[in-house]
Formats: sequence, structure tokens, C-alpha cells
Amino acid sequence: MIEQTLVLIKPDGVARGLIGEVISRFERQGLKIIGMKMQWVDKEFAGKHYAEDIVKRLGEKLRNFLLDFIVEGPVVAIVLEGVHVIENVRKIVGDTEPKGAQPGTIRGDYCHVSYDYADKEEKAIRNLIHASGNKEDAKNEIELWFTKEELHDYPHSQDKFTR
Ligand code: AMP
Repeated sequence: MIEQTLVLIKPDGVARGLIGEVISRFERQGLKIIGMKMQWVDKEFAGKHYAEDIVKRLGEKLRNFLLDFIVEGPVVAIVLEGVHVIENVRKIVGDTEPKGAQPGTIRGDYCHVSYDYADKEEKAIRNLIHASGNKEDAKNEIELWFTKEELHDYPHSQDKFTR
């Protein structure tokens, strides 16, 4: 049940100076950071993260908006480990659409825009964070963003409560 997940603090979160705030929320939940780096990706790399297959679900236009957004500036990529971490992280991050994200979640506290607004502006919604959606995505995304050497196993104060 101990899982790993990928979190990206997207270019809006980095540019707004919210890196520390976001990381502290995961740390205070007792999640273990096992990998972390800042990276400014290019379109080719972005195309692997938002792979062709999302076109079926989102359409070509929205995929292009997402690609444009993720290359706007550096992102902070983090691999978190914990019990049911995929679900727990998505709970802390809040709904994908900031307008509907509950107060107390990262998106609910730090952004507010709607899909309608982003669509009208013809851009991806600035929602601060990407968090893997399920186990398969988490595995693929971690492999894309991190080498094995960049992921660290070390004793953490939470281990005795979670292991
Ligand atoms: P993520 O995979 O966490 O980076 O978030 C991307 C998700 O945001 C997509 O799955 C879309 O559902 C959603 N999204 C982003 N921008 C828009 C937009 N302008 N209109 C509708 N959905 C959007």
C-alpha cells in the first residue's frame, strides 16, 4: 500500500513563489520526499508527459494548451512516498478546476479560475500542480522525470508510523 507519486509544481506555482508552501503541505501530512529537482522542460519532453493518448480524452487543442503552459518556465518535480499517496496527494491538491477546489486544498487556497475562463482565454488552466492520477500514470511519470539514481531511500521520521 506504500505508493509513490509524481507532483509537479507548475510554472505558475514556481513564478508565484509557492514552492515552499506546497512542499510544506506534503511534509506536514507525513509524506516522504524521495526525489526533487527544478527543471525547465522543452516541448519534446512535455509531449512525453502529456502524451498523444490524452488527445482522445482532452482533444488536440487542449493538449496543445497544456504543452504551452508546462514549458513557460521551470517546474519543480517531486516524488512523494506514503500510504495511498496517490489519492492522499490529490486530496491535498484539490479539484483540477480551481473554481471548484475546496478551501484548505492547495488549489482552493491559491487559485480560483474556471475552465470556462481558461477556455475563453485559449489557455490551460493555471492550477499550480500536477499530481499523478493513478498507479499506472505514477509509474510512467516517475520513470519519465527521474532516473533511479535520483530517487533516494533513507530513514525518515514518519517511517515508524507508516511502516
Ligand atoms: P494536469 O494533468 O494535472 O497537469 O492537468 C491537466 C488537466 O487540466 C487536464 O486533464 C484538463 O482536464 C484540465 N484543463 C486544463 N486546462 C483546461 C482548459 N482550458 N479547459 C478544460 N480543461 C482544462
